[in-house]
Amino acid sequence: MQNISNEMRKSYKTIAVVPTMGYLHEGHCSLIRLAKETADFCITTLFVNPTQFAPNEDFEKYPRDFERDFNLAKTNGSDFLFNPSVEEMYPSGFSSEIKIKGITEKFEGKFRPLHFNGVATVVAKLFNATLPDFAIFGQKDYQQTLVIKQLVKDFNFPVSIVVAPTIREHDGLAMSSRNVYLSTTDRNKATILYKALNNVKEAIKKGTRKKEEIDDILKDTLLSLPEIQIDYASSALADSLNEPDYFESGQKIVLLLACKLGKTRLIDNMVITID
Ligand code: AMP
Repeated sequence: MQNISNEMRKSYKTIAVVPTMGYLHEGHCSLIRLAKETADFCITTLFVNPTQFAPNEDFEKYPRDFERDFNLAKTNGSDFLFNPSVEEMYPSGFSSEIKIKGITEKFEGKFRPLHFNGVATVVAKLFNATLPDFAIFGQKDYQQTLVIKQLVKDFNFPVSIVVAPTIREHDGLAMSSRNVYLSTTDRNKATILYKALNNVKEAIKKGTRKKEEIDDILKDTLLSLPEIQIDYASSALADSLNEPDYFESGQKIVLLLACKLGKTRLIDNMVITID
């Protein structure tokens, strides 16, 4: 992969990479199309990274369909699909791990303690393999985008990070490879996440500024489904994830949700600038 990227770079061609775990949907495809608009070449990476899954999580049963992914990547404009094996990425004797402090310690990081170490490490390896000028990530994984920006800053990766909007189903559910785990009933109920985000958006329009009130709206909306299990439903400043008691005009905030419906864990978020 490095040889191919070096050849492209020798002819002054720019490269955008789209890191994915596969089982591509329209969310991924929108990133691939954006990559192709942003750079001369698009490399899509397809790697279900074992080190970002905890032992009790879904690494083994994570949905996989190489043929379909290959075709979707190609038809959406990807020039290369980089699909390394676990052994190639982590050969025996592999001994390193990148740990980013601070931003990784709350929200998703609190519930999945080693997750962002796995993400940071694999993304660093994927950057070194693909040598991109740009890397495209989805807002869907909001905290991940902050972690990657910190990684790039701290390790001086010469890569520009582009964050693309979350693509949703017609009823507002954020697209995710994991949505296939939902039963039909839970799939219908899963729209509650988007509803919670929109309820806060409306409340903020009407003048709500207190973090506690905002978080209560998120939680109360979600809990209208008694069976939902909330990991977190919270608001924070969008750039730092700090949590002041009040938000002020001009501040950009993010609403962050993670909850379980049945056995399926869903995450979603919304960024709002306070008027
Ligand atoms: P994943 O395969 O789930 O690791 O996701 C690969 C990339 O696609 C990440 O940058 C995700 O944030 C992004 N992504 C996943 N779902 C969506 C979506 N619904 N809309 C936009 N980007 C997404």
